[in-house]
Amino acid sequence: MRKTIIAGNWKMYKTINEAIELTNGLKREFDCLETLGLEVVLCPPYTALSDVSELIMDTDIQLGAQDIYWQDEGAFTGEVSGKMLKDAGCKFVIIGHSERRQFFGETNETVNKKIPAALRNGLTPIVCIGENLSEREKGATFKVLTDHIENGLKGLSTEDVQKIIIAYEPVWAIGTGKTATPAQAQEAHKFIRDLLKKLYTDVIAQNIRIQYGGSVKPENAFELIKQPDIDGALVGGASLSVESFSRIAKSASEVKK
Ligand code: PEP
Repeated sequence: MRKTIIAGNWKMYKTINEAIELTNGLKREFDCLETLGLEVVLCPPYTALSDVSELIMDTDIQLGAQDIYWQDEGAFTGEVSGKMLKDAGCKFVIIGHSERRQFFGETNETVNKKIPAALRNGLTPIVCIGENLSEREKGATFKVLTDHIENGLKGLSTEDVQKIIIAYEPVWAIGTGKTATPAQAQEAHKFIRDLLKKLYTDVIAQNIRIQYGGSVKPENAFELIKQPDIDGALVGGASLSVESFSRIAKSASEVKK
């Protein structure tokens, strides 16, 4: 049984004070997360990690970072290691987000180095994959997903692969207001699960959680998460307000699979 997981990627939004305000609001909404039967993860910017960590210490809300460097320490100006993220209270880390691929030179090869760095520091990687608009229009969606999975996860042991979460995020749906239809999203998620079965085992494929990301809103969350292979959502814009993020989580908790 895969537990639904809703993560909020705050991107480069929220000063420390704003992050504290948002977290306090979410704490009030999620005071009984256990009864919702969900995992909820907040991924603030690095500067707010420690403050948010302290605020959620006495709750079931969990903390994630938006990126990681693959070395644990060293002369790598501007980078943040898994050891540091763990120290700041993180349990999760987003790896390979399309904005990192698009603007900061992230590739399958760097994703492949970052996943083990997260795992050896006890962090759960949320590995983002997904096609852009021209790839979808060319009919190359499955080819791109195969490339991201095969090369991003290359060399991971069967034991390690079971510790990751995959986020299917069609790039054309991120921050654009265009959401994949539930059928389009389900088709991609099923493809990913079938591929994991081919590469690993059926049991592993059935156990790995695959989140959908791309303009998830309170209005579309239920229908997306209701799909059999969609195990939650990675939410960008709509995670920046207490009202929309908590409504998404509540919709997710109403989905009975
Ligand atoms: C994201 O940042 O991962 C994302 C899905 O953003 P948005 O929900 O704003 O499309």
